Amino acid sequence: MNRPHLSRRAVLTGAAATVIGYNTTTRSWATAESPASGRLVPVPPLQGTLTTNPATRAAFAQDFGRLTTTTPYAVLTPAGAQDIATIINFARRNNLKVAMNGQSGTGTDLESHSNYGQAGVAGGISVNARALNRIHAITPTNATVDAGVTWAQLTEAALAHGLTPPCLTDYLHLSVGGTISVGGIGSTVHKYGLQADTVEAIEIVTGTGRVLTATPTCNADLFHGALAGAGQIGIITRATLKLVPAPENARVFTLFYDDLTTYLTDQQTLLNDGRFPSQVGEVLVQPNGQPPRYKIEAVAHYNGTTPPDPAPLLAGLTPVSAQTTITDTTYRDYTYRVDAFADSIKQLGYWDAPKPWLSLFLPATRTRAFLTETLPQLTPDDIGQGLLLCYPFHTGKLTHPLAVTPAEPVAYLFDLLAFPHPGTDPQPALTRNRRIYDRAVQLGAKRYPVGAIPRMTPADWQTHYGPQWATLTTTKNRYDPTHTLTPGQNIFP
Ligand SMILES: Cc1cc2nc3c(=O)[nH]c(=O)nc-3n(C[C@H](O)[C@H](O)[C@H](O)COP(=O)(O)OP(=O)(O)OC[C@H]3O[C@@H](n4cnc5c(N)ncnc54)[C@H](O)[C@@H]3O)c2cc1C
Repeated sequence: MNRPHLSRRAVLTGAAATVIGYNTTTRSWATAESPASGRLVPVPPLQGTLTTNPATRAAFAQDFGRLTTTTPYAVLTPAGAQDIATIINFARRNNLKVAMNGQSGTGTDLESHSNYGQAGVAGGISVNARALNRIHAITPTNATVDAGVTWAQLTEAALAHGLTPPCLTDYLHLSVGGTISVGGIGSTVHKYGLQADTVEAIEIVTGTGRVLTATPTCNADLFHGALAGAGQIGIITRATLKLVPAPENARVFTLFYDDLTTYLTDQQTLLNDGRFPSQVGEVLVQPNGQPPRYKIEAVAHYNGTTPPDPAPLLAGLTPVSAQTTITDTTYRDYTYRVDAFADSIKQLGYWDAPKPWLSLFLPATRTRAFLTETLPQLTPDDIGQGLLLCYPFHTGKLTHPLAVTPAEPVAYLFDLLAFPHPGTDPQPALTRNRRIYDRAVQLGAKRYPVGAIPRMTPADWQTHYGPQWATLTTTKNRYDPTHTLTPGQNIFP
C-alpha cells in the first residue's frame, strides 16, 4: 500500500514533534522545536502523546474510501480515557474539533474504515483508537474491551474460551468502538440485531469532557445515544459486549436464483422461520445488460463430525437446484472468510483506489420495486472486484433509537461494496450514489451511516432521523453542546 502508516518509526519521530501549546493568535500548534510567537495556551499534561508530526497527520488524513482528505492539526495517542477527556476540554476552550479514528486493519495497514471522511477532522485533533487495544476481561457471557480492539482480536480471545461475539461484521479487522458507533451489521443481524445491540455497558468520554459509564439503566440516554450514534455525543473508550457459546463448525449453503421474485420469496421464508443462524445474500450484476442473478448464503452450525441434514434446511426453497453448493468449514474459518479476498485485492491495487460504497436499509415492501428500478443502472464495472449485498432482517431487533430503519417490520440491507478498477474516476459513482439515495428515501429507505453519499445537508439528516431527530439534538445539546465531536459525519456542520 502506498499510504503512510503510523508505524513505530513514525510514532517515535512524532515524539520529537510533541505539541507544547496552541497559539490562539495564529491558530497553530507550537512544538518544542518550533515555539511560535503570540499568545500560547499550554497543552495540559497528558499520559500519552499529542503530535503534529507530518507523517502521523498524513496517516489520519484519509480513510478506506480514498475519496476525501481531511488532515488533522494534531494526533492524540491516548494512554486512556482521561487523556481524551483532557483533550476534549482543551479543544472546547480553543474552538477545536475532535474525532476518534478507528485505526484498525491488519499488520501495519491501519486506517479508518470509513468511506467518506466520517472519522475526519480537518484542522482538529484525531484520536488514535489503536492506542486503546486491551482486552480486559472475558467471562462466560461477556467481554470487556477497549474501543480500539478489533473484532478479530476479540474473536480470537473469545474462541480460546469456546465463545464468540454473536454478531460479527463480514470483515473482522474493524475497531469495536467504530462499528458500535455506526451499528455494525453482519450475517446474524436477523437473530441478534446489530453489534451495537449486543453491548451491555460502555465507558465514554462525553463532549463535555466527562468520563462516564453508561448502561441501559445508568445514564441510559447516553448509552442509547452513543450506540449507533455516529460519534456525536461522546468517544467510547471501553465496552462490555455479549458473548455466546461458539459452534465448532459451519455448513455453508450457497443457493443461486435467476429471478428476483423467487429470490425475495426464499429470503423471506428463511427469515420467517429463522432456520439458519446466519443468512445473507447478494445480487450478481451481469455483463452486457443481462438480467442480474441472485445468491443466498445460509449457514448452519454444528459440533462434532456429523453435519446437519440438508433436506429439512432446504425444504420449501426453490433455487436453481443444480447450482446449489454445500461446503463444510470450521466456524473460525467462516468468520475470517473475507481475509483472503482482502489480501488479494490489496495485492491487485484495488484497496488503494477510491471506493464509493453505498449502504442502505430498504423497506421490504418496496425492495422489489427499488431493485427493479436500480439494478439496470449498475454494470459489472460499477462493482469492479466488489459485491452487492442484499438481505433481509427484522427491524425490531435493532434496539437503539439512532439506528434508524424503515418503518416496517422487515428491511433489506442494500450494500454496494464497490471496488472499482484502479484509475476509475469516482465522481460519476458519487453522483449515482446520491441519485440512488434520493430515490430510496422517496421509497422510505434509510441510509447506514457509513458509505459515500455526497452533499448530505442538515435537512437530509433531519429527514433521515425523522422522529429521532429530537432525540439526537437533545442528547447532542446535553453531552456535546459546543459541537466539538466527530464533524466528519457532517450531521451538525
Ligand atoms: C473491508 C470492509 C468490510 C466492512 N464490513 C462491514 C460489515 O460487515 N458490517 C458493517 O456494519 N460495516 C462494515 N464495514 C464498515 C465499517 O463498519 C465502518 O467502516 C466503520 O466505520 C468501522 O470502521 P472503523 O473501526 O475503522 O471506525 P472509523 O471508520 O474510524 O469510525 C467510524 C465513525 O465512528 C466514529 N468513531 C470511531 N470510533 C469511535 C469511538 N470509539 N467512539 C465514538 N465514535 C467513534 C468515527 O469518528 C467515525 O465517525 C466494512 C468496512 C470495510 C472497509
